[in-house]
Amino acid sequence: MTRIILKKGREESLRRFHPWVFSGAIAQVVGEPAEGDVVGVFAYDGSFLAYGHYQIGSIAVRVLSFSGEDVLGPDFWTAMISRALKVREAAGLASNPLTNCFRLVHGEGDGLPGLIIDWYDGVCVMQAHSVGMFRAKAAICDALRTVFGDRLKAVYDKSSGTAPFKAGLDLVDGYLFKADGFSDDEQVVLENGNRFLVNWTEGQKTGFFLDQRENRALVGSCSKGRTVLNLFCYTGGFSVYALNNGALRVDSVDSSRKAVEMVGRNMELNGFDKDRHSDICADAIDFLRDVPEDKYDLMIVDPPAFAKHRGALNNALRAYQRLNAAAISKVAPGGLVFTFSCSQVVDKEAFALAVFSAAAQTGRSVRILDRLNQPADHAVNIYHPEGEYLKGLLLYVE
Ligand code: SAH
Repeated sequence: MTRIILKKGREESLRRFHPWVFSGAIAQVVGEPAEGDVVGVFAYDGSFLAYGHYQIGSIAVRVLSFSGEDVLGPDFWTAMISRALKVREAAGLASNPLTNCFRLVHGEGDGLPGLIIDWYDGVCVMQAHSVGMFRAKAAICDALRTVFGDRLKAVYDKSSGTAPFKAGLDLVDGYLFKADGFSDDEQVVLENGNRFLVNWTEGQKTGFFLDQRENRALVGSCSKGRTVLNLFCYTGGFSVYALNNGALRVDSVDSSRKAVEMVGRNMELNGFDKDRHSDICADAIDFLRDVPEDKYDLMIVDPPAFAKHRGALNNALRAYQRLNAAAISKVAPGGLVFTFSCSQVVDKEAFALAVFSAAAQTGRSVRILDRLNQPADHAVNIYHPEGEYLKGLLLYVE
């Protein structure tokens, strides 16, 4: 196995269990690792620090183990997936009759950097963000079969959009496992008792945004008697909760035609009257421009990540400010705005500042009623605070 020797003093972050080794911290590479290989990481004095996946780029190793256990054998994957499942059990998600979809593995948050697995009532959809995880996908699939047994209906690999494309991998999405008789590319799942159709082959990411589960429930609890505008609605997650909880009417807006079609199917699935909702394929900013003031007294603003890397931070903050100013200026007096950012590089203080500037721009009186986060199954490793990415504010606009 290749040995990565760090420069003097550069072992500190690993001793604090931070799971990344930056290329600048490396003194010597003993061997010729290919991207995705498991390598050993050692301090300058030769003491063992960790095993991890080697990769090309500023992060050179993503740690799989600090303890020296065998990370190459099948037992490693079974043990790690069992541990991840235990966390979801502890959070009340793994055998909940009202919620049968959750994130099973959340990368660094579960000690498996570069791996995402979402569970949709027996269907596991995985996305590898690193070559190491991509190469391990057969072993990961075997481990899922071992851990879940008969409960597992299928394992679908959807890494074509997430694995490093420069690595020259054979990136074709597809099933790694299908139980006898399983044939669909979509199925109905339950989230807090709300019904959703999830299609992992056609949908964005793994098919559904599981990270908004608790925030959707909060929207539901505030929806009674309100007229709701759900901007960047994707397949209508927030809309379904609002309508199931007494919203007078919900308009759902997304620029993706496929997403808007799914909103329509989710409305039908939940049996809502046609005159209580409309599904609109449009640019959210353009749509907001033409929204009459006072029409909506609850708005959800949940855009895609405006900053995917640090270089895009300033532009992203300006974009959050513009978007939120438009929403705050249009919401009816006494209205609520649920506003979110899922950009990892925009921290909660920076996001709050952008929303503060937006509010100031409108001149309206605005109170923060709640600060919103990602849920427990999008676990944050305490040694890897970068894993916290979803933040939101619930605003009351007088
Ligand atoms: N709120 C959603 C998730 C939103 S993800 C949920 O609960 O499931 C972000 C969505 O924004 C995606 O569906 C994407 O298609 C949409 N989108 C991206 N740019 C947009 C734009 N300019 N106007 C409207 N929608 C946009």
